[in-house]
Amino acid sequence: MDVQTNLKQITNNIRQACEKSNRKFEEITIIGVTKYVTIERAEETIAAGIKNLGENRNEGFLEKYNEFGKQVNWHFIGSLQSRKVKDIIDKIDYMHSLDRISLAKEINKRASSPVDCFVQVNVSGEASKHGLAPEKVIPFIEELSEYPNIHIVGLMTMAPHIDNKEKLRENFKQLAELRDLVKEKCLHHAPCEFLSMGMSNDYEIAIEEGATHIRIGTSLVGNDSD
Ligand SMILES: *Cc1c(COP(=O)(O)O)cnc(C)c1O
Repeated sequence: MDVQTNLKQITNNIRQACEKSNRKFEEITIIGVTKYVTIERAEETIAAGIKNLGENRNEGFLEKYNEFGKQVNWHFIGSLQSRKVKDIIDKIDYMHSLDRISLAKEINKRASSPVDCFVQVNVSGEASKHGLAPEKVIPFIEELSEYPNIHIVGLMTMAPHIDNKEKLRENFKQLAELRDLVKEKCLHHAPCEFLSMGMSNDYEIAIEEGATHIRIGTSLVGNDSD
């Protein structure tokens, strides 16, 4: 399916989820996740009107960044090895996977200006998932005040691959509650207004629970095996 057709469907679904939860469509940023697809498909995504792209590996990000540069906002959504920070940190607009002090230290050292970061949280507790345990998030964010180049704009999570809608909803609710707790602290370095949650299978539920940034790959651009 062409990206424009997919986007139309997704936009309709977002509008419905917003209506159901009394939210505004404008509050939602769609991040087109292009990690599975070619430069041509990414170009089609931009032409369809997507202004935010997400990549999860340095190589894939740099390949697309070299092609499109500042035409779009770039979201780094994968786990990042500290030694690779320097290659990308001044090129990305948002980092979605901050989950350890050693990474924060390296970003702080290598970035030439403050970087907007989401702290990744492992809400479900699955061993295979990256991210901090929920109870570690607030002390972690408080510790980050020492690093002038780290600016915490929100929290991010990846929900488990399950079909149980109520369990998914519970995950997203927990992240939203945690975000509220951080926000209430009014930390200068951590306004923490955003929630990066929801992917192809669960973005409507995520929006109903407060997502501001949804990361959509498969249902928007497909994946190469299609
Ligand atoms: C791949 C990926 C996505 C997109 O997943 P889809 O299910 O294809 O929409 C979103 N977030 C992260 C962190 C990813 O790695």
